[in-house]
Amino acid sequence: MEKLLSGAGKLGLQLSSEQLQQFETYYRELIDWNKRLNLTAITDYEDVQLNHFLDALTVVLAWQPDKGDTRLKVIDVGTGNGIPGIPLKIAFTEIELTLLESTTKKVAFLRHLIDQLKLGGTEIVAGRAEEVAHDSRYRESFDLVLSRAVAPLPTLAELTLPFCTVGGSMVVHKKGDIEEELRRASQAIDTLGGRLREVRALEIPELPDQRRLVVIGKISTTPEQYPRRPGIPKKRPIS
Ligand code: SAM
Repeated sequence: MEKLLSGAGKLGLQLSSEQLQQFETYYRELIDWNKRLNLTAITDYEDVQLNHFLDALTVVLAWQPDKGDTRLKVIDVGTGNGIPGIPLKIAFTEIELTLLESTTKKVAFLRHLIDQLKLGGTEIVAGRAEEVAHDSRYRESFDLVLSRAVAPLPTLAELTLPFCTVGGSMVVHKKGDIEEELRRASQAIDTLGGRLREVRALEIPELPDQRRLVVIGKISTTPEQYPRRPGIPKKRPIS
């Protein structure tokens, strides 16, 4: 985990040998399950360290729990194989993490993985964001909402902002030139109770492709009718 260790240092994170061992286990389990279930195209040891683990941890450039701030609730929407949620939980054990994923085989992998990593305070929810966001146990319940590589922003805002508590934040990983995507998302963000706070360009040589963190604050309650039925946010994004 040399690449991860050195990259994390540049983010101001000092990972302990125990945490590095957890990342090692994460890698091994991913590769092992991938042979049977075809979970990811990225399997090279260094690529996983950089493009999955380190990329996930860049969230800390936009958000960090305050010292002593325990039980902060974080949800990762469309977590897939656990990115970015699980690396963040390994780095900040005190957060309460919810992983939301709709694909059954990925949910099975996540259940096995959190068992192997002995991650307490981690809940896995199998389902679609469009439905789970109407469940009162999850709606407007999270201080931080994360999501990477799930949908373009106009759609993503509808899948994620309903989970965020008023006063909380959403941090989304994006790549490349996102000016146009942001412009198209402005109506959706506004309608759902959000406000764009910042777009942070990542200047980390190990992570090319113009990576960005889009930070959106939740300033008012999301109207009850959102998100709409499964598939509608993608088919007809709010505009
Ligand atoms: N976030 C992970 C990452 O960056 O590696 C996974 C990205 S993968 C391209 C997108 C994931 O989002 C898939 O695992 C998919 O099943 C999940 N997903 C897509 N739409 C979803 C929805 N409406 N509700 C829940 N999960 C969804």
